[in-house]
Amino acid sequence: MTAVNLLELDREALAAFCEQLGEKPFRATQLFRWIHQRGASDFDDMTDLAKSLRQKLAGRACIAPMGVVSEQASADGTIKWLFDVGGGNAVETVFIPEDDRGTLCVSSQAGCAVGCRFCSTGHQGFSRNLSTGEIIAQLWFAEHQLRKRFNSPEGQRVGLTDDKRVITNVVMMGMGEPLQNYSALVPALRMMLDDHGYGLSRRRVTVSTSGVVPMIERLRDDCPVALAVSLHAPNDALRNDLVPLNRKYPLHELLAACRSYLAAAPRDFITFEYCMLDGVNDTDACAHELLALVAPHGVVHGREGVSGISCKFNLIPFNPFPASGLKRSPNERVMAFARILQDGGVVTTVRKTRGDDIDAACGQLAGEVQDRTRAHERMTRAPVQVHRIGSPAARAIEAGRAPESVAPHESEA
Ligand code: SF4
Repeated sequence: MTAVNLLELDREALAAFCEQLGEKPFRATQLFRWIHQRGASDFDDMTDLAKSLRQKLAGRACIAPMGVVSEQASADGTIKWLFDVGGGNAVETVFIPEDDRGTLCVSSQAGCAVGCRFCSTGHQGFSRNLSTGEIIAQLWFAEHQLRKRFNSPEGQRVGLTDDKRVITNVVMMGMGEPLQNYSALVPALRMMLDDHGYGLSRRRVTVSTSGVVPMIERLRDDCPVALAVSLHAPNDALRNDLVPLNRKYPLHELLAACRSYLAAAPRDFITFEYCMLDGVNDTDACAHELLALVAPHGVVHGREGVSGISCKFNLIPFNPFPASGLKRSPNERVMAFARILQDGGVVTTVRKTRGDDIDAACGQLAGEVQDRTRAHERMTRAPVQVHRIGSPAARAIEAGRAPESVAPHESEA
């Protein structure tokens, strides 16, 4: 009989498992607390469980975290772990400490099938979904590693003590599109929120999606944590190119899903992530177009806002990698773009680059993936086609023509 890995089970599933063993449901809560709050991986350490139960568990269950392939620490305190998920695949998890919080960026898939142009994970293609246990194992490992580390004399010296939480926030922004791995994701989120597990508030757990519209609606009903949407473009023509999923779920559907998400959590807001790409999506015109999309009062700069979404923008300086063919927007451009959004009444932040020396930017992680989608091959064969706003090729896309149909004299040079 294969031993069940208890990291795979949220508390409800653990109660069902305990019942199968002939145990009372409260045993599941005890067990859950040992695993997730105390980081136990050996049943013999669970001293308040009856010996007979520990013996039963030893034969039928295990607590099996993932193997750590490597750990890299940045000069700014960011830590990146590479975890082995078998079959030649690895996923990355990144811890980002700040003055008032510690954020863990967690992966949901080995690779990603969405294929965003600016994302190195997207260029690698997709291998497989992570299981619930593999998602939660990233938090389990980081939480207990960091606790041990910060309770050391060195941790005390920098003011981190047992009563101070090291991981205060979790963002599902590592490798993968979490909403394309929904059935594994939701139990993992519940374990993060569970008071007998990690006890994080739902505003401190963020799911970041490139826009899987039907699953945004399901998440609203099943587990409405904070939602971040990778927007990256103010119109369908450009977004189709940068985030290919937009061809299936265009902006008007995506924004309607955001509005409906907020209807279930009216005190919340959507974070729109926007990767700043030099000469591609960073013009003043793009900023005004974005404002028109989310305008709370219906009209911005003479254009009708279609959504009135309570939101904030997070501008992300692009982390260049050779295969993308894209460049990071200059700082002055990012600041000018941010100013337009702020002047339009939308809270806008610029993400600090962290862990640059260990290549740790969330969503642009560089693990090795056994690509089952041949995305790398496709993207290598078809070099990045990003067209400047208003260029002939961009106008061709807007008019519903393929950009290749642009006559040579209309070239963007
Ligand atoms: S940005 Fe996110 S959704 Fe897009 S390819 Fe990268 S991991 Fe996938």
